Amino acid sequence: MALKLFNTLGRLKEELKPLKSPAVGIYTCGPTVYNYQHIGNYRTYIFEDILKRTLDFFGFKPFHVMNITDVGHLASQGDEGEDKVEVMAQREGKSAWDLAKFYTEAFLKDCASLNILPPDVLCRATDHIQEQIDLILRLEKKGFLYKTSDGIYFESAKFPDYHKLMGKAHLSGIQSGARVEANPEKKSPSDFAVWKFSPKDHKRQMEWNSPWGVGFPGWHIECSAMAMKYLGESLDIHCGGVDHIPIHHSNEIAQSEGATGKPFARYWLHGEFLLVNSSKMAKSDGTFITLEDLKEKGFDPMDYRYHCLTAHYRKQLDFTWEALEASKIARRKLKDWALNMASEPPKPACADFFNAFKEALSDDLNLPEALSIVWSGLKNADLPKGARASFVQQVDRVLGLDLFKTEEKTLSPEIADLLKKREEARKSRDFAKSDQIRDQLSSLGILVEDTSSGQKWRQK
Ligand code: AMP
Ligand code: ZN
Repeated sequence: MALKLFNTLGRLKEELKPLKSPAVGIYTCGPTVYNYQHIGNYRTYIFEDILKRTLDFFGFKPFHVMNITDVGHLASQGDEGEDKVEVMAQREGKSAWDLAKFYTEAFLKDCASLNILPPDVLCRATDHIQEQIDLILRLEKKGFLYKTSDGIYFESAKFPDYHKLMGKAHLSGIQSGARVEANPEKKSPSDFAVWKFSPKDHKRQMEWNSPWGVGFPGWHIECSAMAMKYLGESLDIHCGGVDHIPIHHSNEIAQSEGATGKPFARYWLHGEFLLVNSSKMAKSDGTFITLEDLKEKGFDPMDYRYHCLTAHYRKQLDFTWEALEASKIARRKLKDWALNMASEPPKPACADFFNAFKEALSDDLNLPEALSIVWSGLKNADLPKGARASFVQQVDRVLGLDLFKTEEKTLSPEIADLLKKREEARKSRDFAKSDQIRDQLSSLGILVEDTSSGQKWRQK
């Protein structure tokens, strides 16, 4: 079965044909580590995780590179304003390096709690300054660059296909409208900095020597330099959120293809936004929600993962606490069903449901459809329990919901103690006592089963 994905470049669903199948090189834009990532960011990372898992499910071998932006991302998407990492470091009274380290670790911890698979290469912009300088030198040699008083700029008019990722959208002025125009020396609003000079009035914490003077790389150049270092000058898939289409990704294409003369990424996949109260998340109006906020309200990060699977990645998702509550209940039920089915001997998975699931994925990752097939398969009383369990086991490789994992951390000390005592009773062959504790646990909503690998429990 062919896997079809919607390619923003050309705006069509296309069959995935990697350059060196079964290997698939993927680059995804990672976080700017000046703050916690919000749940909107995580929606995009979950979509990218599902994509990787789907590739694996279809027999491909994904190799994933993700960057950490720890320098150069300025307050506007263009090249104006101050560096986000430096500004926040000052505000929090930390060094820029410590701040970036702190939020990188927080990000990785969040990803693990969402069961997002780690990338094969996680690369920091500050560890790749030379690669970025080398790429800028190539662009300079080819005549794409010009100098202004605050940096070295890429002249977008010199790359005729500059608007190809946006399609006709650029005609409506989306791109120029999104920019804060502050540098009158730019020849065109869509020109962008590849190297910025350190300001004269204060010393930056992060700065490097370069053939153009002391400064730091522009935000966009890091992705081109690192993607090409780890995946070659042409790579298979590049992902990010839709906000990156008009500026960041258009700039990546211009500077990469300008330097190499080769197609950069062949498939561009973009995740739609998560909205809160039908608008963008903002710190100022309290709509900036983090995973920690979810946990404080009694949600497990995996409830949010489930929630993201209920909407297609190319559709906006308006976040509400009520909808998240519904996903929490649904995930618990799904898990209970799965664990219940697994209590019987495994049988081969039912091919019809398995194929229907795969077909839904093959249609540009139609997860809402795939999820409804999982529910139908699981509830289908015509199938032996063991067959339903095998089906769910296989599809959970893609869903990543860890449906067969019991959540030890939700145990109260009282229940944990009873489970321990029961295990001990069983070991000393005191079956009367172990049965009595089993009943006690049952009255507390915990079902215990004895398996060859010891006692297993689940919530009723
Ligand atoms: P940033 O840290 O701002 O560079 O964003 C990290 C990733 O999250 C990028 O792929 C963005 O496109 C994506 N992103 C930002 N805001 C949202 C949102 N509200 N919903 C979904 N994805 C988002
Ligand atoms: Zn990027």
